[in-house]
Amino acid sequence: MKNDSFQKIVKDIKSFLELEKEAGLNEAILKPVIKHVAKAVSSKEPHPVEEACPIKDKGEALEQLKASVLNCTECALSKSRRNPVFGEGNPDADLMFIGEAPGLQEDIQARPFVGKAGTLLTKIIEAMGLKREDVYIGNCLKCRPPQNRNPLPSEIVACREFFMKQIKIINPRLICCLGKFASQTVLMSEESISRLRGKFYNFENIKVMPTFHPAYLLRNPQEKRLVWDDMKKVRDFLKERS
Ligand code: URA
Repeated sequence: MKNDSFQKIVKDIKSFLELEKEAGLNEAILKPVIKHVAKAVSSKEPHPVEEACPIKDKGEALEQLKASVLNCTECALSKSRRNPVFGEGNPDADLMFIGEAPGLQEDIQARPFVGKAGTLLTKIIEAMGLKREDVYIGNCLKCRPPQNRNPLPSEIVACREFFMKQIKIINPRLICCLGKFASQTVLMSEESISRLRGKFYNFENIKVMPTFHPAYLLRNPQEKRLVWDDMKKVRDFLKERS
């Protein structure tokens, strides 16, 4: 499927979701729609231009994308957010982390992972022998859901295009998805994070490693060991092929 027809499907689904929302339909009813997006994405062939020409000026491409994120009003979160949180880090990073959505501190500071979960993520990165500035950190949703509630399917669909473009620009060697929402959204899966984590997957030509979210680790510190196992796999993958 060509990129423009894919964009059209996503646009159609977005309009449909808005109608459904107005009609008061709940997430269970919207689930098949997510399946529909999954099907559209899985049947998408790589765009030949994107394949043949890697982006030359990543910094400039990210700035342009950031400008559209800052002006975005695609979903209702644009009304409640203080700041959209675009993401930050090394545009040439081999490793990209993708979280769920900004929390309170991120909403205030307009930076990803700067609250308690962020402090833990920074420690995890440093335990791998890297610095925060070496990697790129982003989120599935660019705006904070009120009271940090779970993202709605319609919000994920509305924001998906942004973070897919972000991935394409950065073109990391490995994406580490933090938690259920990032993992399910990137992999287009409905599998639980407990089942997904710890294994390598492919997203186009990029390896993907799902693991538990640092916020989950703050509530369940006994699971840190499993995340450390996953991070060792990530570290070894990046080392082996460097
Ligand atoms: N949790 C996330 O998923 N992302 C952030 O940026 C902060 C907390």
